[in-house]
Amino acid sequence: MDLRDTAEQHAFRQEARQWIATNAPRHLDEKLAASSFGRSAFEPDEYIRESKAWQARKADAGWACLHWPEQYGGRDATPIQRVIWAQEEGRYGYLSSLYIIGHGMCAPTLMAYASEEQKRRFLPPMARGDEIWCQLFSEPGAGSDLAGISTRARRDGDEWVLDGQKVWTSGAQNSDWGIIVTRSDPDRPKHKGMTFFFLDMRSPGIEIRPIRQAAGDAAFNEVFLSGVRVPDAQRLGGVGDGWSVSITTLMNERAAIGTSMATGFDELLALLGELALESGPALDDGEVRCRVADWYVRAMGLRYTGYRSITALAKGGLPGPENSIGKVVAGNMMQEIASCALELQEVDGVLVEDAGLALRAKFPRMLMRSLGTRIEGGTDEILKNIIAERVLGLPGDVRVDRDVPFREVPRGA
Ligand SMILES: Cc1cc2nc3c(=O)[nH]c(=O)nc-3n(C[C@H](O)[C@H](O)[C@H](O)COP(=O)(O)OP(=O)(O)OC[C@H]3O[C@@H](n4cnc5c(N)ncnc54)[C@H](O)[C@@H]3O)c2cc1C
Repeated sequence: MDLRDTAEQHAFRQEARQWIATNAPRHLDEKLAASSFGRSAFEPDEYIRESKAWQARKADAGWACLHWPEQYGGRDATPIQRVIWAQEEGRYGYLSSLYIIGHGMCAPTLMAYASEEQKRRFLPPMARGDEIWCQLFSEPGAGSDLAGISTRARRDGDEWVLDGQKVWTSGAQNSDWGIIVTRSDPDRPKHKGMTFFFLDMRSPGIEIRPIRQAAGDAAFNEVFLSGVRVPDAQRLGGVGDGWSVSITTLMNERAAIGTSMATGFDELLALLGELALESGPALDDGEVRCRVADWYVRAMGLRYTGYRSITALAKGGLPGPENSIGKVVAGNMMQEIASCALELQEVDGVLVEDAGLALRAKFPRMLMRSLGTRIEGGTDEILKNIIAERVLGLPGDVRVDRDVPFREVPRGA
């Protein structure tokens, strides 16, 4: 692919640049510069307020969810225009993480399975950021093996009644709506008795309990469902077809997370530029240079693999299993980079608060957050299995319970 802008792309870039220059929330520049993956310089409420304000401003001017159809709140932009926008939005894109699950996973699922009326009702407020969405998939007994979920859905007339527990639900505490996969028929094999819905997160019977993480914040939650009523009209896909609907979400999840992942490489380079080791400037150290060269090669590999996905999307393709590569490489790279940054800083590496050293203070939280990156949206092992089986065509993993009725599959107490 030719990486230079065409005349049309150049004009689009200029238009985006100009709009951002006039409208960006410059009062947040300092806090955005001090924030990075895993580390926010904002108070949680402030982050939500400012993210909503920026999202609404973009949406009102036609710059939100660019690639969505116009009638759903987008502007029918091409995948390349979307990349150009992200490049120009730069650090202000940090304010979009609040919507990554809604825009990246819930919206594509609604677009594929919701009725036209539902799309017109739910997608525009999601694009504008007025309504936040979350994803209720994982359970205490089902993560990698999502088809092992046991949250029950029983039909009752025009409604379904949901009972069970979800876990690790990112952003549930701030969400208005959620997508959920349930077990509707335990007598069928596990992949065949699942049904998928979207639900109002303020429905009676939903209890959300935040889980405090190592870095001190509580970005995800346990969600308990007791007799939660969901209209049948909010079912996505057929009864028993929840597995296929979930695959749509997961493929989009890996594309949303995997094609534009932070690695910490830029932050590391910035740190090395100002760090002195006993032997002299860090960037003159042979071993440091060797490691940086290795990460640079990987960063370039990620960039071009991302471009390859975007080229495929631009030609009308769907997000495919190759998007798993980005997350495996970027997640591991971030962990290695953050460890290296801490190690090189010696005792200063334990700094977590600013103290006038904003750049250095980024790495401890980056290290803690990088562990989650290697788990969320599919662990390294699961993604490697996907790459092995579906990209490289190697023999499949052993799956002994594939055809057994779910009720008979041995599970923990
Ligand atoms: C930061 C973060 C945010 C998250 N947000 C959400 C969210 O919003 N919504 C949601 O539903 N979930 C969310 N999750 C949950 C996430 O999807 C699961 O943690 C993940 O799928 C792994 O499941 P598990 O934790 O149950 O681990 P398990 O599936 O129990 O895995 C344990 C270990 O066994 C390995 N393993 C399992 N099966 C195999 C196999 N077949 N072959 C080889 N190794 C295997 C795994 O790789 C892992 O190392 C989030 C997780 C994190 C860390």
